[in-house]
Amino acid sequence: MDAERETRTTCPYCGVGCGVVIEHDGERVTGVRGDPDHPANFGRLCSKGLTLPLTRAPSARAMHPELRTSRDAPRERASWDTALDHAARRFADAIRAHGPDSVAFYVSGQFLTEDYYAFNKLAKGLIGTNNVDTNSRLCMSSAVTGYKATLGSDAPPCSYEDLEHADCVFVAGSNAAIAHPVLWRRFEQARARTKAKLIVVDPRRTDTAQDADLHLAIAPGTDVALFQSMLHVMFEEGLVDSLYLAQHTEDFEAAERAVRDCTPQWAAALCEVNAADIVTAARWFAASRATLSLYCQGLNQSSHGTDKNAALIHLHLATAQIGRAGAGPFSLTGQPNAMGGREVGGLATALSAHRDLDNPVHRAEVAKLWGVESVPAKRGLTAVEIFEALEAGSLKCVWIACTNPAQSMPDQARVRAGLARAPFVVLQDCYRDIETAPYADLLLPAAGWGEKEGTVTNSERRISRVRRAIAPPGEARADWAIAVDFARRLGPMIGRDAARLFPYENPAQIFAEHAETTRGRDLDITGLTYEILEARGPQQWPMPEGVDAGRARLYEDGNFPTATGRARFAVLGYNATAEAPTIDHPLRLTTGRLRDQWHGMSRTGRVASLFSHEEEPIAAMHAADMAARSIAEGDLVRIEGTRGTMALRARASQAMRPGDVFIPMHWGSRHVAGAGVNALMPSARDRHSHQPELKHAVVEVERLSLAYSLVAMGQVPDTDAALAALGPLLDRFRYASCGLAGREHPLVVLRAARSAPLDPETLAAVDAIFGLRDVEELIAYRDPARGIDRLARVADGKLVAARLAGDVAGASWMQEWIAEGRDAASVGFAILAPTAMAPGGGISRGRTICTCHGVGEAQIAAAFARGTSLEAVQRELKCGTGCGSCVPELKRLQAAQAQPVALAA
Ligand code: SF4
Repeated sequence: MDAERETRTTCPYCGVGCGVVIEHDGERVTGVRGDPDHPANFGRLCSKGLTLPLTRAPSARAMHPELRTSRDAPRERASWDTALDHAARRFADAIRAHGPDSVAFYVSGQFLTEDYYAFNKLAKGLIGTNNVDTNSRLCMSSAVTGYKATLGSDAPPCSYEDLEHADCVFVAGSNAAIAHPVLWRRFEQARARTKAKLIVVDPRRTDTAQDADLHLAIAPGTDVALFQSMLHVMFEEGLVDSLYLAQHTEDFEAAERAVRDCTPQWAAALCEVNAADIVTAARWFAASRATLSLYCQGLNQSSHGTDKNAALIHLHLATAQIGRAGAGPFSLTGQPNAMGGREVGGLATALSAHRDLDNPVHRAEVAKLWGVESVPAKRGLTAVEIFEALEAGSLKCVWIACTNPAQSMPDQARVRAGLARAPFVVLQDCYRDIETAPYADLLLPAAGWGEKEGTVTNSERRISRVRRAIAPPGEARADWAIAVDFARRLGPMIGRDAARLFPYENPAQIFAEHAETTRGRDLDITGLTYEILEARGPQQWPMPEGVDAGRARLYEDGNFPTATGRARFAVLGYNATAEAPTIDHPLRLTTGRLRDQWHGMSRTGRVASLFSHEEEPIAAMHAADMAARSIAEGDLVRIEGTRGTMALRARASQAMRPGDVFIPMHWGSRHVAGAGVNALMPSARDRHSHQPELKHAVVEVERLSLAYSLVAMGQVPDTDAALAALGPLLDRFRYASCGLAGREHPLVVLRAARSAPLDPETLAAVDAIFGLRDVEELIAYRDPARGIDRLARVADGKLVAARLAGDVAGASWMQEWIAEGRDAASVGFAILAPTAMAPGGGISRGRTICTCHGVGEAQIAAAFARGTSLEAVQRELKCGTGCGSCVPELKRLQAAQAQPVALAA
């Protein structure tokens, strides 16, 4: 084993793209800290980044290829040669029999740029199909089409440093305080000095909205009406920059005509906000010395996402709030390398280096660069269409890499039906236990975070080197290397010279080829090599040959990459959401992120401390909607949509508008009964970007009375193995969620309910998972008359596991006792008394607010109740002094103490 070493790389979660220093011994990651020299974060990490070493989950990793030759058979271990030869034969057979468009690749914004490049060239250059799409389709494709429709190219014009220069920050459809936390901390620090005005547009009063000078809590999906109305005010009140409009834009007269009737009163009625607030927002936006917009999935995940993006960019063009320090429209990227995928054209609707698929000159350029006769003109299947085509039977083979569509896609029933019908499914992933894995005929083990080399591009166009600290486990390989190996096997079978097209021996060669494709394009990075990135650190594009550094800001000269050099006003109209409330489904369901989880939890779902803030998914509702349905705080409820149902616990939240429901996006069928909230969401999509409306569906909510409850918890030898064993049992319950708890002594927790007692076999299976069978240290309490059946295990004087069935009183304190390793021997059988009060008294300290220092809500609330200031509470309890992600919640707890009200979600 080597001595302690350090390797600089990046965080694999959100698009902030923080620099990370991995501490390791050459074989194992021993620690992580923020890279003080990385310009995205200057040493800061959020709760997710700080816990990266805990996500390695050895037993859940895919270690070697697994293959099944029939759907009824289990997958069996195979060699790489067998696996890739088999895959090549299946793909070649389909291509020969049904043509190149009978196969598809569904890849990921978590790919490195080199991975993306290899898969894109494999599909478009070798096979001759544009059927290569990515989960970025669910994330940023409306931002892409919005930029292209207005500014002429998919190029975010701003930099993170603009947060420090802005006088007004306009946040729309983004809860950046928790979704991009390190960036938001930077803004908060800057705002203390700049006193920048903050306007937040969001149906919920999120952590981001709570500090706003103006919060426009619009009805879901009405953003275009709001932005059009703001533009109306700007034209009406002479707030536009006429000189800029005349010199640097086109079609603004049409835009002015289009918004003539979009009065604040019109928009106020649609958006359900005050007309006066719309006027204020327009004035602040226009009059500010520099206005910066931040936006994310609230605009993108919409059936009119392109219009939303374009309408917001119009406001910047009309007021010349672009191309200056602190000014401009700035899309925040959801995934770590969605941008890299966009750069290489790794989408069914794009070509390399921001070239257009429907432009014959661009197609010829790419064909020449790759040395192929042509690249296909017909656009490929986009994300939703891939699974529809699988269901329809027209697609014969699909290769899914580094993404989990059986959790993340909308309308899960159809996606799963498509996967089940697909003749051949390849899954290439780090983990072998994700929701999509059961559908895979071939599972290929991929290298994960800290195990691979390449580059990524973050939200501010900054390219960073990703470095390998340790070797991948087992036989796992880098994603680009798998693509290259497959291509070389497939090529001869379909009569293509794959050896010439895929000569790469390392990712640096792929990067060099990618850089060459950008020559002369708006994202020109011909001045970048791995060596330069090593020597000068992360760089923003463009950085053409001959310059020393990338460009922080675009369009400073007012020239745009359009045919005329002018930015464009697109023709827009207001359109409602795909679904409208009805008598049967009168509530609007929105989805979003939580502070400590990321996407489908395939990584964060392995870290116990990341469950301490929110232990289980909840449905947040306005108190009036709950009262109208006789739903009390914590009641189980049935969420019924037009595509299915889901059972969750309800929470009253002051963050919610009446008529709206919010459910976090993270929990899928590994962690809850059913397929998760995405099963309720529609596959309706934007006609330009093809991005589905993952953020809006209509539902009804009703109280769910389930007579039988069960909570099981315990320390287990392998938390990932226990969660995997619990997964298939979750659907035996009407409501079930399983996850982790604790910090130093992680435990697995199952919370479940159903209408009738669980059958003895399933109960025995649950007990076995928690080590509550066939062991000596068991104590039991049963009262059949009252339906109580409680079981606990005390080892070395400590409570280590418990299962409460029928009556689950006391589950909270038991969980704390197990997590904290408290002495239980002294209380004997009293530990099983069905009471919420722990033996010897004491109450639960509540959910953990500060993940870094493990500080609970009750402790913090008690400190604020004593009149302690925020700074003093932070000094006393240390909460909010680590990554800082909990500071917005500390402020809310402080406000709640000043004016006692129910806590917002
Ligand atoms: Fe990772 Fe957090 Fe930084 Fe995002 S903000 S890149 S999740 S450390």
